[in-house]
Amino acid sequence: MSAQIQQSQELFERAATVIPGGVNSPVRSFASVGGTPRFMVSGQGTYLWDEDGNRYVDLVSSWGPMILGHAHPAVVDAVRSAASSGLSFGTPVRGEVDLAAEIIDRVGPVEQVRLVNSGTEATMTAIRLARAFTGRSKIVKFAGCYHGHVDALLVQAGSGVATLGLPTSPGVTDAQAADTIVLPYNDIEAVRACFAEHAGEIAAVITESAAGNMGAIAPVDGFNAALRELTRADGALLIMDEVMTGFRVSSAGWYGIDAVPGDLYTFGKVMSGGLPAAAFGGRAEVLSLLAPSGSVYQAGTLAGNPVATAAGLATLRAADAAAYRTLDANAQRLGTMLTEALSAAGVPHTVSYAGNLLSVFFSERPVTGYQGAREAESFRYKPFFHALLERGVFSPPSAFEAWFVNTAMDDAAFDTIEAALPAAARAAAEAAA
Ligand SMILES: *Cc1c(COP(=O)(O)O)cnc(C)c1O
Repeated sequence: MSAQIQQSQELFERAATVIPGGVNSPVRSFASVGGTPRFMVSGQGTYLWDEDGNRYVDLVSSWGPMILGHAHPAVVDAVRSAASSGLSFGTPVRGEVDLAAEIIDRVGPVEQVRLVNSGTEATMTAIRLARAFTGRSKIVKFAGCYHGHVDALLVQAGSGVATLGLPTSPGVTDAQAADTIVLPYNDIEAVRACFAEHAGEIAAVITESAAGNMGAIAPVDGFNAALRELTRADGALLIMDEVMTGFRVSSAGWYGIDAVPGDLYTFGKVMSGGLPAAAFGGRAEVLSLLAPSGSVYQAGTLAGNPVATAAGLATLRAADAAAYRTLDANAQRLGTMLTEALSAAGVPHTVSYAGNLLSVFFSERPVTGYQGAREAESFRYKPFFHALLERGVFSPPSAFEAWFVNTAMDDAAFDTIEAALPAAARAAAEAAA
């Protein structure tokens, strides 16, 4: 059962001559699972079609943005209408005000928002703001959390950095990394000890509100609340990175689930509607330090772009309470299928949830942090992934990424997944380290 992938193969060979590694974002290359990445040509609802005409149920959803599925009519109409009025003006436009207001409406602690082009820019600026606001230098982050490719945050990072097994990235100087303190995720005592040792020196703790870049790992009870208490007591800021969880796990993101308020927030993915857009926001007292009201510099030629804001706004407006119920139900239905198939094949595993984000760890012990994620038998993921892919199911091409459901998944899509799983589970069972 080997699908025809000649077009993708030829394109990937050509891509490798003109683009480093043939891709513009590392995990897309299939580096950790091997084989040929599929070059996609179209998407509709929960399906993607590749260059050779193969169809896939898409469980990656562009790494999060496509919660409504592909080519959702309301989003496509909004983009078409915005585009036909001009692509970029370099002036303020109504859509950016509406999108900022929509984000503020949804997330209580966010009083002001600035739009940028990527999650990386959002976290980079949130850190600059926190340092300026506190007059301090140190940043605390957690191992396995990914906050974009900001130099100071590429230390023990998740996502592609974890996929490729890199401790950090060459090109990040010791000076850039020196002010970054890395602690184990979900370890409240480690955070407490860190604040005791570095009292008055820490500008901010940055955390994924729920971790999604080392697989999906929810914060243990009280972890985010403890971060809130410890930062407040010390005068440090708490940066909630909701680039992945924001507007996906609930209408207010992870804040809608645990109600622990951050000082600063970063958003991206879902609020972009699939075009390049992201945001950071938070307390007006902190945001007012930004130029031009304050002196912390940040800018963007295409920030608040009218087409991107139209896509984001249309996506958020269609993401109503019913949509979130559907996402949650789809995640549970998928997770149950995964467990049933893997159990039937005798594969030790845990389906780990963070709201409606989920992932599979080939480990029977619950995974609460990066060390646990790395200790799982991730060699089983490669054959598991390829068996699914050959049977028309596109799961993340890495054991360290979350699976993203969308609202467009229907019974036919679940039937495809259910039909593919037994062979995939057998392949995982037979995998050798
Ligand atoms: C994806 C992601 C980022 C980076 O966003 P980009 O738009 O890829 O730069 C930052 N933080 C988290 C939690 C993410 O999941």
